Amino acid sequence: MIDILDRLGLSPISSGAWAGSELPATDDLISSINPSNGQVLGQVSMATEEQYEQVVRKAEEVQREWRMLPAPKRGEIIREIADAFRAKKEELGMLVSLEAGKIRAEGQGEVQETIDIADFSVGLSRQLYGLTMHSERPSHRMYEQWHPLGTIGVITAFNFPNAVWAWNAIIAAICGDAVVWKPSLKAMLVAVATHKIADDVLKKHGWSGLFGLVIGRDNTVGDRMIRDPRLPLISATGSTRMGRHVGAVVAQRLGRSLLELGGNNAMIVEKDANLDLAVRAILFAAVGTAGQRCTSLRRLIVHKDIVPQLLPRLQKAYAQVRVGDPLAAGTLMGPLIDAGAVASFEQAIATAVADGGTILAGGHRKEGNFVEPTLILARPDMHIVKEETFAPILYVLPYGTLDEAIAIQNGVPQGLSSAIFTDSFRAAETFLSHNGSDCGIANVNIGTSGAEIGGAFGGEKETGGGRESGSDSWKAYMRRQTCTLNWGSSLPLAQGITFDI
Ligand code: NAD
Repeated sequence: MIDILDRLGLSPISSGAWAGSELPATDDLISSINPSNGQVLGQVSMATEEQYEQVVRKAEEVQREWRMLPAPKRGEIIREIADAFRAKKEELGMLVSLEAGKIRAEGQGEVQETIDIADFSVGLSRQLYGLTMHSERPSHRMYEQWHPLGTIGVITAFNFPNAVWAWNAIIAAICGDAVVWKPSLKAMLVAVATHKIADDVLKKHGWSGLFGLVIGRDNTVGDRMIRDPRLPLISATGSTRMGRHVGAVVAQRLGRSLLELGGNNAMIVEKDANLDLAVRAILFAAVGTAGQRCTSLRRLIVHKDIVPQLLPRLQKAYAQVRVGDPLAAGTLMGPLIDAGAVASFEQAIATAVADGGTILAGGHRKEGNFVEPTLILARPDMHIVKEETFAPILYVLPYGTLDEAIAIQNGVPQGLSSAIFTDSFRAAETFLSHNGSDCGIANVNIGTSGAEIGGAFGGEKETGGGRESGSDSWKAYMRRQTCTLNWGSSLPLAQGITFDI
């Protein structure tokens, strides 16, 4: 372990406050715990309010210069940041596995996502396009342009401790913004390592401090951040409970928020689905990351005629899932993040059973934070089915008609990711129509998790409505300005109004 920290340039005790460079560590230390074995991986000191001030002031100072650097020049620096993450992919991915419990392939995959978004952003730096409009007035030109917003506050969840920072920070930097990041206290070392990799590149070019890091408690640093009028945008990823609070506080000061909150994702399996594909997709989406992705599959809506075929195949596949050390070869599922997550897993199963659910596979805690991937035959009206439990529990919900299936799919408060497995063109298009899925992500013959960075990522309803990553998500990090220029020698007014003396 010390070896991984060493390779990433981290000491056993890190400061939680980085204004580019590391600020002095305080005495208020919190340990980072490996969820697989309870061992302490390292310690981080909690940022104080004064340190928070230092980080924000530094970010603001750097941003005033950075915003004047042409965007393609910013892109050249981001290209080097992409290469720096490439060079550290193996060790950073391993740290993700050690601290967040992801299996090796998923830890590496998370860092790859950061590299991908940085590569994408290099091209984006030449594509921050505005529209031109035809003015109704003669000899007038009208267009819109995009300016940087300023310094952005980014709050991240434990389950993507590296990539969610990148979705926000790298795009924001291309847009000319600075970023102050408050990561989860459950994945602090990945945050420090991520920050260091990016800041080492920035330092080389004289831009250290463009990315700031504050690791601290929600009631000191977190609350200060969301109330801070110097941060025009707060991008927050986490539970719906957190989003409700953050959204309300930011709205109160008329700031902008970009919310990426909980999901309760479903897959519809039609009668004509290719079950070989469906079983593999279900397994990865429901069991991958131990069910701790916002896009994890939580509800399987299966046509009643194929329930007898599909369930035995799933039960067999579930029995073969190897649960254990995330870095061991052959492991498909690591631990839950902590004892609280295990308690939520056990409580959800007990509630489902008490409400008439039948356990078809798993259902138990193994040891420590390891649990069995679990399948439960349930009903869509069960209260627990409408909640997001951040664990590998999949509720199987039989249906009769496609309309009924879509109603079940949409009948929850969350609206992140959805999928249908079918070989019917009509069923697929119905699912994608205005009468179909109400989610931000809708897939055909692909599972609910594992989105590509090129698309806009996010969801509707209680998922918060935010969009991050690809497509035109960059617009959230900029302010739009409409400009009208008169190059004639008279002053015509819009709407034909005359106002002559
Ligand atoms: P969480 O809500 O407990 O914490 C998320 C972040 O919010 C942490 O950094 C936490 O410290 C911070 N926070 C909490 N209260 C705050 C406050 N009052 N002020 C400022 N910051 C505050 O979530 P978690 O357990 O870390 O992550 C799991 C949740 O995140 C799940 O619900 C999952 O669906 C969601 N998630 C959503 C997406 C998405 O893109 N939609 C992605 C990843 C995770």
